Amino acid sequence: MSANLSAVAYLGATILFILSLGGLSHPETARRGNLYGIIGMALAVAATVFGPRVTAAGLPWIVGAMVAGGAIGLYAAKIVKMTQMPELVALMHSLVGLAACLVGFASYIDTSLVFAGAEKAIHELEIYVGIYIGAVTFSGSLIAFGKLSGKVTSKPVLIPGRHLINGIAALVVIYYGYAFLQAESISAGVVPLAVMTVIGLLFGIHMVMAIGGADMPVVVSMLNSYSGWAAAATGFMLANDLLIVVGALVGSSGAILSYIMCRAMNRNFLSVISGGFGTGEGQKVGAGGTAPAGEVNPISAQETAELLAGAKRVIIVPGYGMAVAQAQHTVSEIARLLREKGVEVRFGIHPVAGRMPGHMNVLLAEAKVPYDIVLEMDEINPDFPDTDVALVIGANDIVNPAAEDDPESPIAGMPVLEVWKAKTSIVMKRSMATGYAGVDNPLFYKENNRMLFGDAKKTLDEVLAALKG
Ligand code: NDP
Repeated sequence: MSANLSAVAYLGATILFILSLGGLSHPETARRGNLYGIIGMALAVAATVFGPRVTAAGLPWIVGAMVAGGAIGLYAAKIVKMTQMPELVALMHSLVGLAACLVGFASYIDTSLVFAGAEKAIHELEIYVGIYIGAVTFSGSLIAFGKLSGKVTSKPVLIPGRHLINGIAALVVIYYGYAFLQAESISAGVVPLAVMTVIGLLFGIHMVMAIGGADMPVVVSMLNSYSGWAAAATGFMLANDLLIVVGALVGSSGAILSYIMCRAMNRNFLSVISGGFGTGEGQKVGAGGTAPAGEVNPISAQETAELLAGAKRVIIVPGYGMAVAQAQHTVSEIARLLREKGVEVRFGIHPVAGRMPGHMNVLLAEAKVPYDIVLEMDEINPDFPDTDVALVIGANDIVNPAAEDDPESPIAGMPVLEVWKAKTSIVMKRSMATGYAGVDNPLFYKENNRMLFGDAKKTLDEVLAALKG
């Protein structure tokens, strides 16, 4: 493929990626958006593999790597459960970081690339910055994977004087950056490069370990953004325009998502991007004020069905437990049945419900719940006082009144769905266990709250049967 044809293909792929992002912004156009993305990626890969920079001798290596990587990816995508998706995404982000590091080292020690003067300095700066972003993304994403899969504690791990340590590490990275740019030979330059890489790796671990459970969504979207910048950095190192553009698209859309998540969590965006985020120092997860106490009022599936059927207005609040139980189809069926009976049914979606942005929307769309009855938190919160039944399905942190009432709570200040303002709230979960943030929930003890214990799918099947009966 000639250089010109390859450039045209890259341009086409870029346009397709932009169309893809546009399509993904709404559930109705998401499928089309995905399709644009797939075609764009196929075009980009073909234009690169058959492009002018790949020699005949290199082709078998590339094809071999693609077959091996593709097979692993296909296998991982096939076996992954919907609830493990966020972990898989975190793992994928780590690979982008690793690739940036490897490409950085390879292009530094590659003796066939000869630069001089300003060009040399720019190329080396790209390498230094690219490897640093890659290292932070790699180790940070691995820790995020651990936290999301429960292999690493979701509680914040705060080292004393961590801001000072971060500051010193930043100075060391800058100092070695200078030493790297001054290095006369490759062997002299590799040492500062390696030291910086180790610091970057440690910083990634330190940064994500310090994040408390409820703040993880911000980290996940931040790492998404970092992976984009790591890809863009790789693009600069390889002088590949498409990689630069695509990396910048992912980096900036990830940054916008982080900003949206920060607003949803009521966290300050600037303190997030400077790394000083997570639960504030001194706060212990689960130690928010006085622990809620009292009796909980259980309810049966039959009684729940009666309450739902007798209601005028119902709001359903799904959470992570609905995803675990795979209860979305039964929920959809219940909503359809109630609406046929003349009950107004709507869904209230918290921006950080589940374990990844848009998690609930994806599940409800899969179960064919009409989009117009799925509302965001800000739209639906004022309506709870006029609601007869708020049905909480496997959600916990996102309906925790302590976020509003208890300034000591680790989730203090996070906006929540105010289900307790409904005439009756019904919480469906298996036990009294806490949610992801590990915080007790005073909602369960409120007088107008009922607990429907059991696996969400099983109990909802019973509710559905009672409604039909
Ligand atoms: P939570 O984790 O707070 O609560 C989920 C609840 O579901 C648990 O208390 C659990 O209780 C219950 N549950 C689990 N399995 C089942 C089942 N099979 N049937 C019925 N119930 C079940 O989830 P939320 O959605 O309320 O909140 C999301 C949390 O995750 C927030 O803290 C958020 O910050 C965090 N997070 C969100 C991300 C995102 O991007 N959306 C990313 C990373 C973290 P029990 O065990 O008693 O059944």
